[in-house]
Amino acid sequence: MADTDTTHPKTLKVALLGAGNVGAQVARILLDDADSLAARTGARLELVGIAVRNIDAPREVELPRELFTTDASALVRGADVVIELMGGLEPARTLILEAIEHGATVVTGNKALLAVDGPSLYEKADAAGVQLSYEAAVAGAIPILRPIRDSLAGDKITRVMGIVNGTTNFILDAMDTTGAEFADALAEATRLGYAEADPTADIEGHDAAAKGAILASLSFHTRFALEDVHCQGITQVTADDIAAAKDAGFVIKLLAIAEKLETADGGGPGVSVRVHPTLIPREHPLAAVHGAFNAVFIEAESAGELMFYGRGAGGTPTASAILGDVVSAARRMVLGGPGRTETTTGVLPVLGIDAVTTQYYIGLDAADQPGVLAKISALFAQNGVSIETMRQTVHRENDGHENGSAELRIVTHRASEAALAATVEAIKGLDIINSVTSVLRVEGV
Ligand code: NAP
Repeated sequence: MADTDTTHPKTLKVALLGAGNVGAQVARILLDDADSLAARTGARLELVGIAVRNIDAPREVELPRELFTTDASALVRGADVVIELMGGLEPARTLILEAIEHGATVVTGNKALLAVDGPSLYEKADAAGVQLSYEAAVAGAIPILRPIRDSLAGDKITRVMGIVNGTTNFILDAMDTTGAEFADALAEATRLGYAEADPTADIEGHDAAAKGAILASLSFHTRFALEDVHCQGITQVTADDIAAAKDAGFVIKLLAIAEKLETADGGGPGVSVRVHPTLIPREHPLAAVHGAFNAVFIEAESAGELMFYGRGAGGTPTASAILGDVVSAARRMVLGGPGRTETTTGVLPVLGIDAVTTQYYIGLDAADQPGVLAKISALFAQNGVSIETMRQTVHRENDGHENGSAELRIVTHRASEAALAATVEAIKGLDIINSVTSVLRVEGV
């Protein structure tokens, strides 16, 4: 029942699972800002306990020792709101399920768990009539999921393009601004704390793919899991790729792209989700996202183009997103009604990368002799891929003499993955081609 007595606000018991980078900041804000949070929420948010592995581990924030416990399960059973900030699959999954069964509202930032188990967790939360919120799981501090779910609820989203991994944006930005090779930029990101000791999940695109699946699910009211996302990381991007892109007026970003497409066989619309290094024009708003910052660019039928920008990680920025979910959920608990975690009314088919058409950038090292451009152009035409621009730069030795080879940079019009792959294979077979130096997708032109 709605609690309308504002002089004696209801108290909601809050259990916090984890007091690491994010959890410690969430605990600090819950304790320091208790009065103003109560005024904004209409309920006191009482932090009743913090579950950790090691009670004596050093913490960034000094927190009352009596709040700590290693019995997370008991803590969950006594809570109205459970904030899961342990990370990893287990015991996070079991504890979230316990919280749902117990009727508690759940707030989590655990993108790894949601990527694997999101659909089943959302279903269980809906069936139990409890809220499961996860704003912090995508793009850290940036309010992006609630705007998609609530503010754009009356609109139709057609495309979402996100820089949702700060580590890879830092690396690509460093390569773009300093000319560094990938390995050197990664080493710098590690030295400055932007990359983890094992950076695989970031540089191979898995973290961005997990977030892409969440963004696509909410944007298109259709459930996507991690395996639905075509994923390519940034380890193959070279300093030469970046320089050539720059020369042609582009910047390379790792984008998570979810878009509604018409299927080629006329079977109606579907949605594709993909993560890959992408050339975007230097004047595109996403090109201005530097360092470890994140941004999500949305195209919607009525709203047009929108961009959300901010810090994608960090203890305090991410705590902001967690607290936003907690206050929002608590307000609903005060007023009555659980709200919905997500809607799946779209039921659009999940399309593979083969259904996607996009523009491509292709770099070729070719012999510098008459007829080369004509032979290459003919192969593109035979495979149904039309060329938008083709630039040739003759290679020279240090003494200025031409060395008989040339760099060709080609940007195509929209083409399918299959047509492009067939074209590249055919080009590789030409005796005038020394190597195909890069094949990258282009967006936002
Ligand atoms: P973290 O620094 O590694 O902290 C994890 C906390 O969980 C620690 O306090 C740890 O206890 C506790 N914990 C881990 N396993 C446990 C277990 N089995 N039983 C009890 N306690 C356990 O992690 P974080 O960086 O704060 O991230 C938390 C979550 O937020 C993750 O899902 C992450 O993906 C997500 N997230 C983080 C960021 C960010 O910028 N860090 C941004 C967006 C989302 P001890 O302290 O005793 O070891």
